[in-house]
Amino acid sequence: MPTDNEIRKALERVIDPELRRSIVELGMVRAIDISDGGAVHVTVSLTTAGCPIRNHFTEAVAREAGSVPGVTAVDVAFDVLSDAEKASLQKTLGRGTLPAGALAQVSNVLCIGSGKGGVGKSTVTANLAAALAATGRRVGVLDADVWGYSIPRMLGVHGRPRVSADRKILPLDAVGDVKAISIEHFLEGRDQAITWRGPMLHKAIRQFLEDVEWGQLDYLLIDLPPGTGDVTMTLAQLLPHSKFVIVTTPQDAAQKVARRAAETAMRYDIELLGVIENMYGDIFGEGGGQHLADELDIPLLGKIPLTEALRRASDAGRPIVIDDPDAPASQAFFHASRGIIAATPQDIRVLAEPVGAGISGTPLPMAP
Ligand code: ADP
Repeated sequence: MPTDNEIRKALERVIDPELRRSIVELGMVRAIDISDGGAVHVTVSLTTAGCPIRNHFTEAVAREAGSVPGVTAVDVAFDVLSDAEKASLQKTLGRGTLPAGALAQVSNVLCIGSGKGGVGKSTVTANLAAALAATGRRVGVLDADVWGYSIPRMLGVHGRPRVSADRKILPLDAVGDVKAISIEHFLEGRDQAITWRGPMLHKAIRQFLEDVEWGQLDYLLIDLPPGTGDVTMTLAQLLPHSKFVIVTTPQDAAQKVARRAAETAMRYDIELLGVIENMYGDIFGEGGGQHLADELDIPLLGKIPLTEALRRASDAGRPIVIDDPDAPASQAFFHASRGIIAATPQDIRVLAEPVGAGISGTPLPMAP
């Protein structure tokens, strides 16, 4: 007869593909029941009920438990971790929440993700930021794409950030009144390559959220690295109210990867705001964005054409929405930004401003 311990040992080989640790170590093995004939029943606890990688666990648990001598059948069932268990999972991963007050003055956090690199995620982030700023919103961009950081190039913002009197990092002022911070701003050389491992990446992102003095922002846009569930999980824990915007190209392959990125976000209960299709036109066709939006049952926020003008503007470090607001690509970005504004809570700025703010300048000479 197989023992509980043997099964548990075998289940150590079942790795959560996003957290990259064994389900035993993560405390996700809820129960192991072994019946007389050698049939094993395993209950695995998931982070959310609609977990898209359920099938992965079903197969891996059946395979690993089934490899133990004496096991005649494996049956896998699922339940969901309680809030207390999720908190303890976060502790296992060494990840707490942000301290109270961090980002307190930021109204909306938007994560821009694509799953796959090269689909124009950074281009979309930079131009959406500039478009939102052009319509009077206070906007910051956090470049969390630590491997392929390109926000500094696209927003033409290089150099080293200053540190405030209370030792907070001050974001740099980019074109179009957008504040930005990127890993590039902390590197010795501009094109220095860095290899980040999971825990370091988590620490860097946490520090960007905790130690940067973003001040009052209507929108903080986060340019996500391609395809890591790990970063999505980090952000979901640190910023449970953030919303996800998915960028895809019209092609089928990009759409499939984008869908996986969206499913990861769903796994951690991050709200999906909508899809942006980028690079539509003669070369790549169109329709992939609408298709994905329909599949996920979320709005298509915009369709950005593939244009030479947009590429040139990005390479020159000037978002096209600033230099040529009437260009077809700019119009598409403004359209998408209006969709975002409509879908996110807005403060009425005048009421939000503390009384007396804005009165400055030289005091009038007064009679004694
Ligand atoms: P990602 O962030 O997804 O890796 P980028 O935003 O860096 O992708 O874009 C990759 C390249 O494609 C850049 O050179 C960018 O200027 C170009 N690009 C992105 N979107 C468009 C577009 N709609 N039309 C023309 N070029 C684009």
